Parts: sequence; C-alpha cells; structure tokens
Amino acid sequence: MNLFKNKLTSNSVPIKTNRTAIVGAGVAGMTAAIYLLRSGCDVTVYEKHSISGGVCTGWKRKGYFFEGAVHWLTGSKADVQLYRLWRDTGILADGVKTYREDPFLSITVGGEEIYLYRDLEKQKKHFLAISPEDAKAIERFYRDVKSFLHFQMPVVDIKGVKVKNRSKSKLCTGLKMLPVLIKAARLSRISTEEYAAQFKHEGIKKFLSEFIVRPDYFAVALVATIATQIKDGVFPEGGSLALAKRMENKIIELGGKILFNTEVEKIAVENGVTKGVTVNGKTELYDAVIVAADTVSAQNLFDSPPSDKWIQEIKTKKPMLCTFVGIGVRENLSNLPCSICINEKITVGGVDYGIWGLRNYSKHGEFAPEGCTSLTAMFTDDSYDFWKKHKQNGSYYEQKTQLAAEIARLIEKHLPQLKGKIEVIDIATPLTYERYTASHKGAWMTVKEKSKNYRFLMPEPVCKGIKNVYFAGFRTISPGGLPIALYSGFRAAQYVCRDNCIVFEGQI
Ligand SMILES: Cc1cc2nc3c(=O)[nH]c(=O)nc-3n(C[C@H](O)[C@H](O)[C@H](O)COP(=O)(O)OP(=O)(O)OC[C@H]3O[C@@H](n4cnc5c(N)ncnc54)[C@H](O)[C@@H]3O)c2cc1C
Repeated sequence: MNLFKNKLTSNSVPIKTNRTAIVGAGVAGMTAAIYLLRSGCDVTVYEKHSISGGVCTGWKRKGYFFEGAVHWLTGSKADVQLYRLWRDTGILADGVKTYREDPFLSITVGGEEIYLYRDLEKQKKHFLAISPEDAKAIERFYRDVKSFLHFQMPVVDIKGVKVKNRSKSKLCTGLKMLPVLIKAARLSRISTEEYAAQFKHEGIKKFLSEFIVRPDYFAVALVATIATQIKDGVFPEGGSLALAKRMENKIIELGGKILFNTEVEKIAVENGVTKGVTVNGKTELYDAVIVAADTVSAQNLFDSPPSDKWIQEIKTKKPMLCTFVGIGVRENLSNLPCSICINEKITVGGVDYGIWGLRNYSKHGEFAPEGCTSLTAMFTDDSYDFWKKHKQNGSYYEQKTQLAAEIARLIEKHLPQLKGKIEVIDIATPLTYERYTASHKGAWMTVKEKSKNYRFLMPEPVCKGIKNVYFAGFRTISPGGLPIALYSGFRAAQYVCRDNCIVFEGQI
C-alpha cells in the first residue's frame, strides 16, 4: 500500500504520512481506523481489553454462546445511506447471512397473544382483530410508523474535507424525511407510556409501553424502533462477536495495527496540541488522536479535561445501561418463537419489571451444544448504584445468585419443559460493562426522554482548546447504538483528513 498516495502536497515531494492513534477498538474506533487506512494513513488502535468489539460482543459459558449486543442492525438495505458503511467496514460483508425472524416480538397478556410483525399492514390488521374499539388509535399508530419507514440516519460529508467518493444524499430522500421530522417533533413531547395510553386494550398498552422500549423513553424511540424492525432490522450471522472480528480482520488486511491489552493512560497535550498517547508510562507520538472510548469516562485521560459545551452537555444525558442475563438450557426450543414473554413481575438491580422477555437463539445452532438452546434476557434501566452498593458491602455475588435463582424459578414456571434443564445462568451487571469497556456507569447508549424542544444534534466532535484530538462513539450523537458508532467513526476519520490535508477515500 502506498502510504503517501492521498496526501495533498503543494509540490511533488511526498511528505511524512499522517499517524493516527485510536483509543478503543469498539465499532466506532474500528470504523474510523478502516476509513483512515483506506485514505492512506498509518493507524494504531489501542484496546484495553483482549478482544475487539467493546460492548458489541458475545461470550461463551459452559458451551453456550450468549449474544450480547446486536438484537437488530438497521440500514441493511442497499437504498439506505448507512448501508455503504456497513459494507465498507465488513460488518455486512458478502456472504454474511442475515436473519429477519417474523414476528420479531410477542407477548401473552391475559391468555391473548400480541405480536410485532415485520409487515405494517399485517400489524394493523392484527391490532384491529384483537381490539376493534381501538380503531382510531391503531390508525394513528399505523400512520406514525409508516412515516418513520422513511427515516434514515443521514450520512453526510463534513464541511471542508476533500472526498474521493462523496456520500450521496438524494434530494428525494430528504423530502421523504420531512413528514417524519414533523411527527418526531410531536412524538418527542410525549413518553412511550403516554403514547400507549391512547389504546384501551390492556395487552397492546403493555406491549407498547413496557416491552419494546422502557416507559420513560420519548415516543420517538418506540415508533422508530418498530419502523426499523419493519423496514430493515436484521440479525447478522454469528452476531456481535463475529461482526467485530470482521472489522478487526479488515484493519489488519489494510495494514493497520490493533494493540490489545493496551490501555491508554493519558492523551498527551503540549501547548494546546495533541502529541500522542501515553501507554505504560511512555508517550507515543502521533499527529492525531481519535478518542473512541466513552467520551464521558475519557475525560479522565486529559490532565485538563476539555471544557467544550457539547462535552459538558453529554455528561448530563441519562445513560442507557442494563443487567444482562444469558441462560443455557438442555432442550431444543426451536418449536418456540424467537421472543418468549414472561408476564411476571421481577426485580432486577432494584428496578421492577412487570413483564420481560427471553430471546430464543435456537435457530442459531452454533450458539449452543447439540439439542440445547441459548437464551438471553435484557433488563434495561439504571441499576448501577444498586450493584455498586452491593459490590462495596460484599454482597454482590449473593445478589447475583439470588437473581439467577429467581430467573430460573420464573422460567421453569412458564416453560415447565425446562424443569431441571437450566444448565447455566450468567449475569453481567453494569459493573461488568464498566470493568470491560471503562464506560461511565457501564453505559452503552443514552436515553431520550420526552422534551419540549427536541432537536437531533450532531455536535462537532472536536475540542476548541486542544488541536488534533477528535471524538467518536455512542456518546457523541445521542441516543447512540451501532449506526451512531459507525457514523461517528466515519465522521472522526473525515475530521482527521480535513485537518491534515488528506483526501478522504470515502465510501467504496
Ligand atoms: C445488551 C446490548 C444490546 C444492544 N442492542 C443493540 C441493538 O440491537 N442495535 C444497536 O444498534 N445497538 C445495540 N446496542 C448498542 C451498541 O452495541 C453500542 O452503542 C455500540 O456498540 C457502542 O460502540 P462504541 O464503539 O461507541 O463504544 P464501545 O463499544 O464502548 O467501545 C469503546 C472501546 O474503547 C475501549 N477503551 C475504553 N477506554 C480505553 C482506554 N483508556 N484505552 C484503550 N481502550 C479503551 C473499550 O474497551 C471498548 O472496546 C446494544 C448494546 C448492548 C450492551
């Protein structure tokens, strides 16, 4: 590879290539690495953990694989702007099978089954069939979701960067998004719980207010999540761990380096300019540094943390975190749907859940030993203080054991065929996420609550007082998630190119 090929020079003499350090081999950091390498830069990624992926991961216990992140990946269709980025990074590489199980979610309330289908017309008919008295609310729901089918994450080139293959934003895509923005303004003012309250049917109400997203999220989250499932939400073969490995392989293929078990201790700054990173007490020199670790916890990497307004605002955003449970059972559950509902109260990390679900991975034979099934449950809410308190007073493992016993009891009650067949229950708390990824409170997204003045903001991920340092990752554009990690990495790479007069290679 010619490392000088993309450098813009005023004469024909090649100058030193740009050297960029990236802190964190999560999806954001690896995306930035891939685009910079393709633009001819010399890239080293530092990762504190022994594997890549960050929170986008999965793990094995007693022969069972627990998928730990990607429940759905949005933007998987070729007409969506994000699609090129999934392809360029190897996330949706050729030959990677994707799954769209239908129905995607289901719950049972009062003996009645309620489904979330991948087809909006079918969804409308289903709701009308179980609750004709809700015809008006169903029609409104139908129209809301329908307009959100046109919503997509905008992929735009930053101002001032020279791009070889420019991102193509079509005018018609923008025009189709206009009604969505109007709806988003209305839906951002109410919570999911308030949105669901327009329905009379108790089951639909419960489904919409508690099962899909949490009741305190703004209603945009609910409608957008449903639209995503209908439009193009997929599960890629092998899940999160395989996805991260494909990105890692791409970096190596392009000549980049990933240093595992290597924690960046400091961002070295001299006279307002980033000099590089400090690792094992030694400063390694770089022309640019992309901080793709959690922006909030990464403030500790600076002797004088940046005071930029956007960073101060990020610190005030409510973090999204969870207690995550992997369950391995000695039974083939392929006769059951991919979403199994347990309509029974449970308290997890001090938070009450009236209804909860199990993700059934029986269709993914490689996730469990023969004749067995891997299940997962996700209890999303801020339980950090609960777990921290028990860690500090020495009762953390006792609490986890009690929770595992309660989960086993409720699963066996609802699925009696599993009596005595639960072989493993593995619990990851927010402290686990914090330990592995250094993210503040173990967060992996942020929560959007209802607000009178909601605006979708993409602050410039730079510091006014420190040159050559850039930020990427789930905190940099709220609410986060895989699309944001991806796009923020793409964008950070563009900033490096812009400020170092490098032609950004762009999307393939
Ligand atoms: C249970 C769960 C379910 C999810 N479901 C979905 C879903 O269905 N769809 C979706 O789109 N998103 C989902 N997400 C969210 C998505 O996975 C994350 O938002 C995204 O992966 C975050 O990527 P990131 O690169 O920004 O951050 P991270 O993954 O946190 O990456 C940061 C990396 O930096 C490293 N690091 C930190 N500090 C240092 C340091 N000092 N030196 C070196 N390395 C350091 C960390 O170890 C980590 O590898 C889910 C997440 C979870 C946990």
